[in-house]
Amino acid sequence: MTVGILALQGAFIEHQQMLKTLYVNSFLIRTLDDLNQQMDGIILPGGESTAIFRLLNELNMTHTLKQKITDGLPVLGTCAGLILLAEDVIGQSPLLGLLPVTVKRNAYGRQLGSFMTKDLFNGHMIPMTFIRAPYVTDVKKDVHILSSVAGQIVAVRYQNMLATAFHPELSDDTTVLSYFLEMIKKI
Ligand code: GLN
Repeated sequence: MTVGILALQGAFIEHQQMLKTLYVNSFLIRTLDDLNQQMDGIILPGGESTAIFRLLNELNMTHTLKQKITDGLPVLGTCAGLILLAEDVIGQSPLLGLLPVTVKRNAYGRQLGSFMTKDLFNGHMIPMTFIRAPYVTDVKKDVHILSSVAGQIVAVRYQNMLATAFHPELSDDTTVLSYFLEMIKKI
């Protein structure tokens, strides 16, 4: 199995390291050529969603990325990756606009800009790191909620798309990544 990691901006190295600990092959995606390599799944990392989207457009990668995900390529979006995937983003135009949820950017405000907690993901207690994170304010039909923290939705699954508001790659707990790898095997 090979997983591609979008590496234009943000926390992509941490994803690569975590894949390595599970002995999964991965490569970094920086160009359209990279994006066209064979892969079984793709990770859209945390970072700054506006910056990542601008670079995707400048590098002429947006169309191909959308097409691959629409065609069923399993995708894990974390934090900015969730914002990129969302169909609706409060107060701005959607970016890739593929996942039928509404997200609020920087939803925890300045006071609680970044924090760590432990909570349930798909029934498993895991550490969660939030960094100027979004959360999901609304989900459409058939979106499966995998985590809620303090009443806010922070992890969802819809078809071939898995997205978290927190950064699963910033702890040594591999629950979310393992869930994604199982998803890849089943799709
Ligand atoms: N605040 C960032 C954004 O709006 C997301 C933060 C993150 O990925 N850690 O894109």
